[in-house]
Amino acid sequence: MLPESIPKTVTSYIDAAWVTPAGHDTLPVIFAANEQQISEVAEANAAEVHRAVASAKTAFETGVWSRASVATRKSVLLKVSELILANRDRLAELEVAHTGAPLAQAYGRHIPRAAANFEFFAEYIAQASNPVFEQNPDYLTYVRRDPAGVAGLIAPWNAPLALASMKVAGAIAFGNSCVLKPSELTPLSFVPFMELLSEAGVPPGVVNMVNGRGPVTGAALVAHPDVDVVAFTGGTSTGRLIGAEAGRGIKKVVTELGGKSANIIFADADFERALDAALVAIFSNNGQQCLAGSRILLQREIAEKFVAAFVARVKRLRLGDPYDPKTEIGALISAAQMERVLEYARQAADTEGVEILAGGKRSELFDKGFFVEPTVVTAASNALPVCQEEIFGPFATILTFDTEDEAYAIANDSEFGLVAYVWSQNIARVMRATDALRAGMVWVNTPLTRDLHAPFGGYKHSGVGRDGGDWSRALFTEEKTVTVAARDFAIAQLGKG
Ligand code: NDP
Repeated sequence: MLPESIPKTVTSYIDAAWVTPAGHDTLPVIFAANEQQISEVAEANAAEVHRAVASAKTAFETGVWSRASVATRKSVLLKVSELILANRDRLAELEVAHTGAPLAQAYGRHIPRAAANFEFFAEYIAQASNPVFEQNPDYLTYVRRDPAGVAGLIAPWNAPLALASMKVAGAIAFGNSCVLKPSELTPLSFVPFMELLSEAGVPPGVVNMVNGRGPVTGAALVAHPDVDVVAFTGGTSTGRLIGAEAGRGIKKVVTELGGKSANIIFADADFERALDAALVAIFSNNGQQCLAGSRILLQREIAEKFVAAFVARVKRLRLGDPYDPKTEIGALISAAQMERVLEYARQAADTEGVEILAGGKRSELFDKGFFVEPTVVTAASNALPVCQEEIFGPFATILTFDTEDEAYAIANDSEFGLVAYVWSQNIARVMRATDALRAGMVWVNTPLTRDLHAPFGGYKHSGVGRDGGDWSRALFTEEKTVTVAARDFAIAQLGKG
């Protein structure tokens, strides 16, 4: 059931206060499981974005946070993490209200991840050090890392709090101020989130939020001349625009974009574990995740048995009310996203070389709601659209291969390169796979895991740059090399001769 208390209108959060943009447009927030409007967004226009950026810039320049000690920042970040966990029920119920994704995923993955983001960066800054160079005895050269300034953070709708909080935590850990723009579809959980940042002791103006459509609010944020660094997660076509705009403004930028990741299952894999994981990789979060193992590549010897077992499990997936803790697949985010997935299913039905083994239509179990039956197709060629395009829904495409080289060629034959999954118990094969695959992350005998110390991001059209540990530090800080004379060496005496 929807929670009783849902924010009626979501406005901007500027200088630690909720403010309503003057002359704003209003956008509906819909509960995907019943198609009812449950809230609305007061869209921030360029003038409102300017206020938010000005607040961030002022906060930055006062030094209240940018010059705060590491111990202060660490303790505030740890407090944020604690408060996220203490408010997990409220955050989880709002995450479900605006995404339609199952409650179990909000509790199991998204809320713990949001808390972990702050805890991780709190610990990271406490341990971080900078290099010193002493090769030349005349000089001591060392590197300082200053906060980059004002960060513009743009997040997608599929895992709103988990992904946005990674950006906020990274930005403020290193002393930056920021302006966050969540997706217009998913603003709700950010209301308590902003308030608990303030409660934890993040000073006013250090984290601001504006809401609204990408081309209106998001574009104004990226283009604002006082935004020094942009962190973006979203689709590849939007990433192209953001990268170009950031380039025009000479801003630091990281883009984390789409994927069409191969899940390669060799005949020598642990069959049952690979089967469990293949389901997790494509169907968690309703299949709406950049990391989805959406192309399942099966070695011919096991293909028939695997497909039968996979389809049997897919037909038993529990589709239903996202608030039912037993639900495994909820409703897709929007009517448009549902239509997109159904259009791929319609195309698949009409395409030679594609066979639909499960799903492929809107669920008939519900009168309302953007529910799509979990879908499985086989494809005769990796060139087909169901193998090349990111569908971003509960839609698995299965391909068969014979040799190892063929598997890597299929996996790499994609405009994307975010993740690859490999299942084999042969260590030599695993090593060859990790060498051959062109993806920012390779998961071996495991689905979906993230170590925040390690870089995360994509090859090719899956993005530019990385986040995580040192890579977030590189994005959110400017490196300053300082060279000090270590002794009175001779300086050339110009104008004396
Ligand atoms: P979009 O690219 O449509 O939107 C992402 C964010 O950008 C939203 O906040 C959106 O606002 C905003 N936006 C849209 N247009 C512009 C613009 N011109 N200028 C500035 N901001 C803009 O992606 P989705 O929200 O649809 O998310 C799904 C995509 O995100 C998928 O392709 C997925 O693979 C990718 N993704 C990548 C991840 C990664 O780490 N690599 C992780 C998760 C998702 P609004 O929605 O309000 O229009």
